[in-house]
Amino acid sequence: MIFSGDLIVLSGPSGVGKSTLVKAVRASHPELGFSVSCTTRAPRPGEVNDREYHFLTEEEFARRSAAGDFLEEAGIFRHRYGTLKSEVVAQLRQGKSILLDIDLQGAKQIRAAAEKDEELKNASVFVMIVPPSLAVLEQRLRGRQSENEEQIQLRLGAAKNELAGFRTYDFLVVNDDLETAAADLNQLLDVFRMRTSIVKGNPFQ
Ligand code: ADP
Ligand code: 5GP
Repeated sequence: MIFSGDLIVLSGPSGVGKSTLVKAVRASHPELGFSVSCTTRAPRPGEVNDREYHFLTEEEFARRSAAGDFLEEAGIFRHRYGTLKSEVVAQLRQGKSILLDIDLQGAKQIRAAAEKDEELKNASVFVMIVPPSLAVLEQRLRGRQSENEEQIQLRLGAAKNELAGFRTYDFLVVNDDLETAAADLNQLLDVFRMRTSIVKGNPFQ
């Protein structure tokens, strides 16, 4: 049978643990791809260009946007972020599944694009990662020690609104205990491979 890849869209408030969970599930699903986004924000300590993000200048980001290189893009916390079509489309067609860590605005654009594109619609599935509480979210964001107070306030201020959008997602994973959340996400990934929508054509003719 010929399968398309899954386009697995993960969203959730900043600090909830998306990057940590992506690392964990990729360790148990080494066949999974990850779409490396473009951003105009500065790298955090330990982040490597072209691994966590393609770190671009404002000018380079604007040039790629004008060239139509992005599947979706958004202004978030005073910076620009975007998913390159080149990171996604060819790999899906080859049957490779890809994880996207993007915000709600980006997920909304992919949902809208999928309404007009059968291939994208069949491939995409939307998962929201939520914290056990807002207090725990704040602890994690502060504990990461990667943002200044202004960025922490921006990110916490956005969190309630983002969480309120959970019903626009297909699945919800609570990241309380990390191992449990990673196991939940791994289980979802296994189930996604049984969706009828990812079988190409009619192999039973
Ligand atoms: P995001 O990518 O969603 O912004 P991160 O993956 O950077 O979030 O996680 C934010 C912080 O919380 C990191 O310091 C990470 O180690 C920590 N963290 C993530 N998941 C858990 C968890 N289940 N329990 C405790 N700490 C966690
Ligand atoms: P961070 O700066 O903490 O890495 O990411 C901030 C926010 O940007 C997170 O909510 C993350 O999901 C989102 N994000 C990262 N890459 C993209 C992208 O390509 N598109 C969109 N729309 N959001 C992204």
